[in-house]
Amino acid sequence: MDRVYNFAPGPSTLPLPVLEKVQRDLLCYGSTGMSVMEMSHRSKMYLEIFDRAVADLKALMAVPEGYKIMFVQGGATAMFSAVAMNLMNGGKADYIDSGNFAHNALVEAQKYGEVVVAGSSREDGYGYIPDYTLSPDAQYLHITTNNTIYGTRYTSIPNTNGVPLVADMSSNILSEVYDVSRFGVIYAGAQKNVAPAGVVILIVREDLMGHELPITPKVMSFKKMADADSMLNTPNCFGIYVAGLTFQWLLEQGGVAAIEKLNIEKAKLLYDCIDESELFKGTACERDRSRMNVTFVTGDPQKDAQFVKEAAARGLCNLKGHRIVGGMRASIYNAMPIEGVRALVSFMKEFEAKNK
Ligand SMILES: *Cc1c(COP(=O)(O)O)cnc(C)c1O
Repeated sequence: MDRVYNFAPGPSTLPLPVLEKVQRDLLCYGSTGMSVMEMSHRSKMYLEIFDRAVADLKALMAVPEGYKIMFVQGGATAMFSAVAMNLMNGGKADYIDSGNFAHNALVEAQKYGEVVVAGSSREDGYGYIPDYTLSPDAQYLHITTNNTIYGTRYTSIPNTNGVPLVADMSSNILSEVYDVSRFGVIYAGAQKNVAPAGVVILIVREDLMGHELPITPKVMSFKKMADADSMLNTPNCFGIYVAGLTFQWLLEQGGVAAIEKLNIEKAKLLYDCIDESELFKGTACERDRSRMNVTFVTGDPQKDAQFVKEAAARGLCNLKGHRIVGGMRASIYNAMPIEGVRALVSFMKEFEAKNK
């Protein structure tokens, strides 16, 4: 069986060299005579894997001093609660409601304090990044840098005048250059752009630690997790190992700036095809189009379904849009080669010619 071009939104395609390395090392890692899956998380060999992953991520994102990089569990969804429990401090927080996950984050936070919806595009089906008005006395502002389901992204990061900025970067971490010093907290479920499901990348500015509500479970306390170097309990050892391999692969590609250039080129190929087409229409507002998740429709649900089915028969898989929006979505994360995007564009043209 040949590998397909997998446009799934997450879990999603991983770089082939990473999978091949995993396969080579699966039974015996280095000179250990055992699989990474079988190693103690406290062993010297594993700590080397872990420390290298942290160091490589730090280099890739140019994480400044004063920030702690962690790998935690529970998915980005666990971070929806953790952020509120650690930072809300009995006060209030601003949330920008720019998509389904952004909404889930604010609903979760409402359990722990006052949530102010600083801006929302919910009424308009989340087709764009909304304008917002920030509260000067908020404990933090929460944003979702890329809206996976709707295919929108922030083209500029809000200026918060000193209020800590918290970002869910699950679907675009390491796909474009961010100035980490502008953020108080960055978190990302790894299964979109980095690794298999089960690992969360968590980057927290040190002064924001140690203010958690007393009820905060210890595995969700930023301070306790940071003090224990992500090993308060057994971490997702294998997932972190794969994340580390992806970091090495990214460094070999020239780092985030280089992959960003390629991502811009990949997204342009697809959006140009959509904009030139008489059959396909993009669903996200042009200004805010995502480079990671490209959403489009034909306007006819039956034709959409036919497109998805015929594309899959050509090895262009998982193009069905999210169940709450329908249509198509091509997720073109870092690991999707430009050849995959070219193959999709050429199939779209062929499909259009046949279905005018
Ligand atoms: C997928 C996704 C989530 C949910 O992640 P889980 O790891 O399943 O909890 C949250 N936010 C964004 C932006 C996502 O893309």
